[in-house]
Amino acid sequence: MFEKSKELYSEAVKLMPGGVNSPARAFKSVGEHPLFIDHAEGARLYDVDGNSYIDYCLSFGPLILGHSDEKVVREVTQATVRGTSFGAPTQLENEMAELVIDRVPSVEMVRMVSSGTEATLAALRLARGYTGRNKILKFEGCYHGHSDSLLIKAGSGVATLGLPDSPGVPEGTAKNTITVPYNDIDSLTEAFNHFGDDIAAVILEPVAGNMGVVPPEEGYLESVREMTEENGTLLIFDEVMTGFRVGYNCAQGHFNVTPDITCLGKVIGGGLPVGAYGGKKEIMEHIAPAGDIYQAGTLSGNPLAMTAGLHTLKQLTEESYQYFKKLGDMLEDGLTEIFKDYGYPITINRAGSMIGFFLTDQDVVDFESANTSDLALFKALYQELLKEGVYLPPSQFEGMFLSTKHTEADIQDTLNAFRNALARIKEN
Ligand code: PMP
Repeated sequence: MFEKSKELYSEAVKLMPGGVNSPARAFKSVGEHPLFIDHAEGARLYDVDGNSYIDYCLSFGPLILGHSDEKVVREVTQATVRGTSFGAPTQLENEMAELVIDRVPSVEMVRMVSSGTEATLAALRLARGYTGRNKILKFEGCYHGHSDSLLIKAGSGVATLGLPDSPGVPEGTAKNTITVPYNDIDSLTEAFNHFGDDIAAVILEPVAGNMGVVPPEEGYLESVREMTEENGTLLIFDEVMTGFRVGYNCAQGHFNVTPDITCLGKVIGGGLPVGAYGGKKEIMEHIAPAGDIYQAGTLSGNPLAMTAGLHTLKQLTEESYQYFKKLGDMLEDGLTEIFKDYGYPITINRAGSMIGFFLTDQDVVDFESANTSDLALFKALYQELLKEGVYLPPSQFEGMFLSTKHTEADIQDTLNAFRNALARIKEN
């Protein structure tokens, strides 16, 4: 049923590294080759072989209104006719900035960029330039894009500092990044005891979404906020994934913890390439040309991306998040029952429209516990779900995303698909 995708993939591997333009798409841990997509509409994805799927990947998060939302498509089409890029300011950028400032509690001033990677990279430079410090601290299992300072794995113990997580990341860069476990205040305290006066910033996903979905434990974000303040360290919330997904006012509004700098991406671009970083005016005014910390972009604030983002954000209301909760409850209750019926373990973590399931009976609170999930079972389940017409993000370590276009009938169909998939796995 996937012949055409297979054929296109065999051509693609000769043309692009691994046949893809981003590794997360490659199906490395779930199959032989990725599906090639023909088109998509609402909550549905259609591949080149004519199969259709209920889509829980949604381009890894951005499409909170589902695919090709009518209003977004109409506005972007009209914007295209007016010009695709000017390299000069537009009123659209003011509107986008006003909307982000209005909705995101920590943001008094914002700079638009073109990807999440750019947003976190710029936020770190700002934090280092502003504080005059060198080190940054991140958490194991959190992903913040692929810039050198953030592609770092933990060393053996906090005091040893980070190690490059990819060839090409200089050791000199890696040793300025400290990595500690998520949801573990003692390790963070230890890191601050060692390096407190040289840590420019702590960067974290307020709900981790790149080791599957791992929410902060009660009081954790508050403790991180307190500790950073005490040490003169800036707190950066990377809300590239959680922004407008966890709540109407992002994760920071939901948990009522305010960082110094916030990074955004995904949803605020409505499916076009966008990122942003913002924060207190007093900090943001250090960015060029208001200040001397340099950051720039040919396509930053691009009119098409601003249009898609604006018309996405404007359609989200408090009710959207109540709807996500309703669908999430249905999915969680159904999955819990189905896995119990077939005797397989499942642990479900949720935050707004993000849903993560792990094939383990342990609580998942950090990268180590996320890794207790049964990856072979996930792969088998993934393949069976494709046959049933359900498309999940192609990795155990990515969460599922909901859109306003998913219906209760979609959730019911999805649950039936899981039931059929597990039944076949059990048979074999
Ligand atoms: N931060 C987080 C939390 C992300 O999830 C991602 C992408 N998955 C990024 C940063 C990087 O964004 P981009 O892929 O747009 O560069």
